[in-house]
Amino acid sequence: MFWDKPLETIDCRSLQILQLDRINTALERIAATPGYKSFYDSKKYKIKPLSSLEQMKDLPFTTKQDLRNSYPSGFLVTDMEKVVRMHSSSGTTGIPTVIYHTKNDIDNWSSLIARCLCMIGMSDKDVFQNMMTYGMFTGGLGLHYGAEKLGAMVIPAGAGNTERQLKFIKDFKTTVVHITPSYALHVSEIIEQRNLLDGLSLRIALMGAEPYTEATRLKLEERLRIDVINSYGLSEMNGPGVAFECLEKEGMHVWEDNYYVEIVDTKTGMPLPDGEEGELVLSAINREAMPILRYRTHDLAFIYPERCACGRTHRKISRIKGRTDDMFIIGGVNIFPSQIEEVLMKLPQVGSNYVIILSKKGSLDKLSVRIEVNPDLFAGDLRHLTQLKETITRKLREEILINPTIELVEPGSLPPSQGKAVRVIDNRDKTV
Ligand code: AMP
Ligand code: ZN
Repeated sequence: MFWDKPLETIDCRSLQILQLDRINTALERIAATPGYKSFYDSKKYKIKPLSSLEQMKDLPFTTKQDLRNSYPSGFLVTDMEKVVRMHSSSGTTGIPTVIYHTKNDIDNWSSLIARCLCMIGMSDKDVFQNMMTYGMFTGGLGLHYGAEKLGAMVIPAGAGNTERQLKFIKDFKTTVVHITPSYALHVSEIIEQRNLLDGLSLRIALMGAEPYTEATRLKLEERLRIDVINSYGLSEMNGPGVAFECLEKEGMHVWEDNYYVEIVDTKTGMPLPDGEEGELVLSAINREAMPILRYRTHDLAFIYPERCACGRTHRKISRIKGRTDDMFIIGGVNIFPSQIEEVLMKLPQVGSNYVIILSKKGSLDKLSVRIEVNPDLFAGDLRHLTQLKETITRKLREEILINPTIELVEPGSLPPSQGKAVRVIDNRDKTV
């Protein structure tokens, strides 16, 4: 089923003309915004209309840091009065990256989501339970508005409170859920243990916000007897609705009339041909409040060179293999090792070495930090160590919103690093 068949099946030439037109409109508006223009000035790029999409590769990249530098509204190209909503990236501290939306932007974003939902056979007959965090995180309101636009009944459940989630799924005959894969593993385990499946109407789970494997998809599909659909997005590009699987379940269609998609070599930054894996670079070319061009996502993927059997002409990206940087995601929250280091190193009682260990307890992710304590403290009494453990746990929880397990170890007991330290050991595959 199509939400907007002419656009979803647009021919290649017409798509390119549309993209070029939208990119040039965005450039024109950026050039007229001194704060944004100065970004291109600093990169020594003179803004002028592009005569072909080939010239996109000459534009400088935009990074998360650039967005932070523009805080709070340097990249806004409309009047603030036209802005109706803002979102920011999850899990990051310090200066957040803020994305503004006008009424048209929200409307357009909702249509993109409706397009995604229609593509997988959702309709106004569905009951949609959104089990993603609401608030600044885009997975809440983003999907919410799109599903409403489609006409589905939306249950804005938010994340967590599993007993209530299960009650809603049963009592309101929920047919579609939106959930992170790690939470889905947890919830599905309970459904299985309690033998609840036969009483439910679930048929589809939309899953994204963190990487997961094909094996996890299959496990969940088998457990819950549903279709699991991969959904990709990032707040800088609105959030969900950037790329979404169709029922072929092989790759996610990127809505190319709204997003210009490139895969670049992570080292040289040069665009790679379809089929080759590299870093995904995205441009939000149809955003009124805040166009962003050539944003480095740090996500690793490839573009499928073949056309999709579903009839849509928009190209597909592969499942995200991982990230080029060291960010990791636990329960849908993005965490940078530097956030943990920042907390630890501010405490004089902490020694000079630490390691972050990611594992699984049942189907939930677990984060442990093994920390060498300051030799002075280690010689002290047990009470101090217990206190320190509590302090670190609390400070880390405040910072990363996850409850870590802290293990204090003797100074010098962790392997010293030679060259670059390995700070994160991810055992989640081995401990499932
Ligand atoms: P945020 O901007 O906080 O929503 O985080 C966006 C990031 O989450 C992306 O850049 C990806 O690294 C990750 N992400 C979102 N959806 C998926 C997905 N379906 N598969 C893998 N990673 C994802
Ligand atoms: Zn398709």
